[in-house]
Amino acid sequence: MSPHIPTTQAQKLRISGPPADTKNSMRGADPTRAFPALDTRGLLGQLDARLIVERLPAIVYVADVGVEGAWRYVSAGAKTILGFSPQELMDDPGLWARQVHPEDRERVFAREDDLIDPSAPEEYRMLHRSGRIVWVRDEAALVTDSDGQAHWHGVMSDITDRKRGEAKLERRAEQQAAVARLGKRALEGAQLSELMHGALQEARRTLGVQSGVVLEHRSEGAAATVRALLGSLQSTPREPAGQPPTWLPEEVSARLADGLSCQIESGSGRWGTLWLQGSPGRRFESADVDFLQALANILADAIRQRAAEDDIRHQALHDPLTSLPNRILFLDRLAHTLSRAQGPVAVVLLDIDNFKLINDSLGHSAGDELLMQIAPRLRTALRPQDTIARLGGDEFVVLLEQVDGEDAAAAIAKRIVAAFELPFDLHAGEHFAKVSLGIAISGETGSQPNKLISDADAAMYQAKERGRARFEIFDGAMRARVVERLSVENDLRRASERGEMQLVYQPIVSLADATLVCVEALVRWRHPTRGLLDPSAFIPIAEESGMIEPIGRFALEQACAQAAVWQAEHRDRPPLRISVNLSVQQFRQRDLEATVTAALARSGIAPSTLCLEITESVLLQESDGVRDTMTRLASRGVRFVLDDFGTGYSSLGYLTRLPIAGLKIDRSFVEALGGSSRSTAITTAILRMAQALSVEVVAEGVENERQVAALRELSCDLAQGFHFHRPLSAEGISKLLDGEHRRTEGS
Ligand code: C2E
Ligand code: MG
Ligand code: MG
Repeated sequence: MSPHIPTTQAQKLRISGPPADTKNSMRGADPTRAFPALDTRGLLGQLDARLIVERLPAIVYVADVGVEGAWRYVSAGAKTILGFSPQELMDDPGLWARQVHPEDRERVFAREDDLIDPSAPEEYRMLHRSGRIVWVRDEAALVTDSDGQAHWHGVMSDITDRKRGEAKLERRAEQQAAVARLGKRALEGAQLSELMHGALQEARRTLGVQSGVVLEHRSEGAAATVRALLGSLQSTPREPAGQPPTWLPEEVSARLADGLSCQIESGSGRWGTLWLQGSPGRRFESADVDFLQALANILADAIRQRAAEDDIRHQALHDPLTSLPNRILFLDRLAHTLSRAQGPVAVVLLDIDNFKLINDSLGHSAGDELLMQIAPRLRTALRPQDTIARLGGDEFVVLLEQVDGEDAAAAIAKRIVAAFELPFDLHAGEHFAKVSLGIAISGETGSQPNKLISDADAAMYQAKERGRARFEIFDGAMRARVVERLSVENDLRRASERGEMQLVYQPIVSLADATLVCVEALVRWRHPTRGLLDPSAFIPIAEESGMIEPIGRFALEQACAQAAVWQAEHRDRPPLRISVNLSVQQFRQRDLEATVTAALARSGIAPSTLCLEITESVLLQESDGVRDTMTRLASRGVRFVLDDFGTGYSSLGYLTRLPIAGLKIDRSFVEALGGSSRSTAITTAILRMAQALSVEVVAEGVENERQVAALRELSCDLAQGFHFHRPLSAEGISKLLDGEHRRTEGS
C-alpha cells in the first residue's frame, strides 16, 4: 500500500483511470482469492466477511493510492501487530510511512513505481509503537472499487519470528564459514599473531562487534599481555574514569556485562582469553558463545601446535645439557653472519684441558656440572652479541661478530684464558679447569662456515701441542700443515695395502750386563716420494683418521712373526721378547683381543714374550671394556707396559688397578738424570715405587755413560737408547743375537 505515491506511473493511473485489467493487477496472488470476503456478492456473500477479517492475525486494509493516501479500512490486527489502533491509522495518513523502518523506506516506497506490474509481496521492517522492530509481509492489489477509484486492498502479516529464525540460520552459516576459514588458515601454518587478528576480524564480521582483544595470561597475579587488538576498547562505567585498564583476568571477567569472553586453553591450562566488547544493550546468544569458543579453540590448537613445534625445534638445535645452541644452529648462525658481515668474523674453538681427568677423578656429574658453568664463565669475557655454542664433549665454540682483525681476536682470547684462571665451584669442591683456544678469522682463512671451524680446530690442536691453557690463531703455516696432513692422509690410505710400512727394532738391554732382553718394534713408512718417514710424521694422522688400525695389525703380525724367527734361531738363550706399541684407538676397536690372539697363534710365540706398550691416554679412557681386554690378555701371559711414564698423569692408581707388568720412564727424565735434582728425585721416586710394586722398569732414551751410571746406582733393570743401540733392521737384530751367542760361546 502507499499513502504517498510520488511516481508518475501512479499519477498516470490516477489521472487516466485504471486500465481495463487494472482490476486484476495486484501485488501477489489472484485478487479474487486474496480478498474473497470483501466480495459481498455470490455464495461467499453469505459469510460475514468483516467478522472473519477482524479476527485474522493480520492487518487487512483498504487504502487510497497516492502520497497522502488515506486508510479507508484497517482491521483490528493493527493493534496487535503495530500497536496502533485502526482508528489511529485511519486518522493520520502519514503514520504508516513514518513507522516504516528508516533503512527500508527507500526500497518500500520505490516499489510504488512498479504499480503496473507489482508481482511480489513485499517484506520489510516496521517500527512497533514501542519501538521494537516488526517484520511484515505486505501483499496488496489495486482494485477499482464501485466508486470507480483504484484502491489498495491488502493484507499485512507479522513475519518477525520467521525473519528472526532466518537471520539466526544465516548467522550460524556465516559463523560456521568463519570457523572454517580460521581453521584453514591455522592448518596452512599461519603465524599465531595473524590467527589471533583473524579470529577478532571474523568475530567482527560475524557478530558485528566493534572491538575485541586476545589476552595472554601471565603467571598468577601478573598483568595479562595484549596479543591482538581490534578497534579500541572502551572502559566500562564500572571503571573509575581515567584509570587505565589493567587487564587482569578478574577484571576482564568483570567486564562481561557488555562483552563476551571465552577461555583459550593450551595443554597446560588456561593460556588466555578471547574477549569481545558488544555495543551497549547488545545481547549475545548461546550460539554466539559457542561460535566464539570455536574460534578460541582454533587459537588454542594453534598455540599448542606451535609450542610443540618450538619444543622440537629447540631440541633439534640445542644441546640438552647446557641449553646452548648446538653445531647445527651454530653453523646456521655463522653462515648467516658471514653472508651479511661487513668486516671480519672470528670463530673461537675452545677445548677444556684434561677434561677426561675431571670426569675420571670426580665423576661424570662433576664433569656435567663443569660443562654447565663454561658458558657463564665465557660470557664474562665476551660481548653480549657473541654467540656461544657447544659442539659436543668438552668442545665449545664462540662466534665473534665484527672483530677488527687478529689483535682484537687475540685480546678477546686472552680475556677468555684469563677468565679460566679462577677455580670452578663444583659440588665435589673447587676445581681448576683451563682451556685451549684456536681462532680462525674470516677473510684470511676463507668464508666457508665449516672451513672456519676446521681451521679454528687446527689452531686449537696447535695450542694443545704447545702446552695448553693458551690460544693460537690459524695462520699460513698452519694451513700448510693442514694441507700436508691431507696429502699424508691420502697416501696413508694405500700405504698398508702397498706394503709401504715396515718395522725397525730397537733393543732393550739389561743394565747389568748389556744383554738383549727385548726389542721394541717401531714402525717406519717408506713413502714412494718422500722417503723413509718416522712415526711422528704419520702416526698422529693415522690415529685421527682411523688408519691406525691396519698399521697396528701389521705391526703386531710382523713383530710376532719376526720374534718367532729370532726365538727359533736362539733356543739356547732366554726367549727374546718383543714389544709392540698400541694406540688408544686400537683399544677402542672391539677386535683388539682377536688381533693379538691371531698374531700370537700364527707366530707360535709364547704370550709371555709379547709386550704391549700403552700410554696413559689409554688408561684415561679406562672403561670396563679396556679393563676386561687387558685382564683377559694379561691372564694369558701378555705383558702390558706403560710407555712414556711421567709425561702423563702418572697416576699410580693404574698400577694397582690394572694388570701392568712394567713401565718405561720417559726420555725427558732420563735425559736430566744426574743433572737437575728435581728430575733425579722424580726418577728415583718412580723407581722406588715400581720396585715396591714389583713392576719392571725400562729407562728410555739412554744416550750416555753418565745416565747409565745414574740408573745403575738406582738399581734400574733395563735400558733402551742410542747409547746402546739405535733402532735396527731385523737382520741387524739377528747379527746382534749372533754376536751375543758367539761371546757366550767364547767365554
Ligand atoms: P716410543 O714408543 O716411546 O718409542 C721410542 C722412541 O724413542 C722411538 O722413536 C725411538 O727411536 C726413540 N729413541 C730411542 N732411544 C732414543 C735415544 O737415546 N734418544 C732419542 N732422542 N730417541 C730415542 P720413533 O721410532 O720415532 O717412535 C716414536 C713413537 O712412535 C714411539 O714412541 C711410539 O709411541 C710411536 N710408534 C712407533 N711405532 C709404532 C707402532 O707400530 N704403533 C703405534 N701405535 N705407535 C708407534
Ligand atoms: Mg714405545
Ligand atoms: Mg716411549
